[in-house]
Amino acid sequence: MLYRETGTAMGTVVEITVADASERKARYAIGKAMAELRRIDASMSRHSPTSDVSRINREGALRKVQVKKEVFDVIHDSVAISEASSGSFDVTVLPLVDLWGFDRERVVPNSGLIAEVLPKVGYKNLVLDQKTGSVGFAVPGMGIDLGAIAKGLAVDRAVEKIVASGVRDAIVDVGGDVRVIGARPGKNSWRIGVLHPRRSGTLLVSFDLRDTAVATSGDYERFFIADGVRYHHILDPAAGQPARGCQSVTVLAHTAAEADACATAAFVLGPEKGLAFLRARRGVRGLIVDAEGVLHWTDPAMAKTAHL
Ligand code: ADP
Ligand code: MG
Repeated sequence: MLYRETGTAMGTVVEITVADASERKARYAIGKAMAELRRIDASMSRHSPTSDVSRINREGALRKVQVKKEVFDVIHDSVAISEASSGSFDVTVLPLVDLWGFDRERVVPNSGLIAEVLPKVGYKNLVLDQKTGSVGFAVPGMGIDLGAIAKGLAVDRAVEKIVASGVRDAIVDVGGDVRVIGARPGKNSWRIGVLHPRRSGTLLVSFDLRDTAVATSGDYERFFIADGVRYHHILDPAAGQPARGCQSVTVLAHTAAEADACATAAFVLGPEKGLAFLRARRGVRGLIVDAEGVLHWTDPAMAKTAHL
């Protein structure tokens, strides 16, 4: 039987599907996974004043802030992805995210304001002390936002809880960051759809997946249009503006954290450099929809297995 529950966590919609003969076991697994999502949210959300991330953001310029190992590790992994993507992925974008304020305003900040904020953005100014597990900022006014990786990480942790509950076949979907284990009963895989970046409510493509994570970053999630130009929430840390090269990037990887971060990184890099970045990572495949709506695949085999 299939058991499915929905909820909200990490500021988005969560859907967990479990296939198991025992309803009791399925519901238990889903409960454990939901609780894990709330736990990760509480330590990684920049909106919760008591989270480790908020503590870093309040005090990081004054002193190094000791955080839970999983928070230190995700920041550490984020820096590695920044290095691999020439800084296109950068969790220190918070000052820019705040300036653009996609949650509230619908105005384009003037270039003077952007120029003022840019020096506060840069992963190279993060101070990571592995020995004490603490994080600080070399420049005042810095801040971190794990929005481009934490959802994926939460999916991975929720999947661990489901596996630990003895379930073998499941899907965890946190706002479109998905990881599947096993298969749909009677099938060899789970079918996962990816939204079309311009035709809302329509699928662009679907994949038949087993034990794989898939994440999509798109310019259609949070955006506004001013004077005919689309301004969205994936920012190019070098320009201080929304990245312009893509409509969406979908990444398949072993873990949802890697898929999530790589989708954002490739989106900022744009179609050409983004494909090269994805191809260079072991076990990673992807599909980039460029600014004109043209599809680019990391490998022909992936295009063949997709359902258009
Ligand atoms: P979504 O949240 O729609 O799944 P992403 O995974 O691409 O999309 O994450 C986008 C979020 O990450 C933004 O809302 C912002 O908080 C943050 N962010 C924006 N630009 C970057 C960037 N270049 N590097 C890292 N994080 C970013
Ligand atoms: Mg992402």
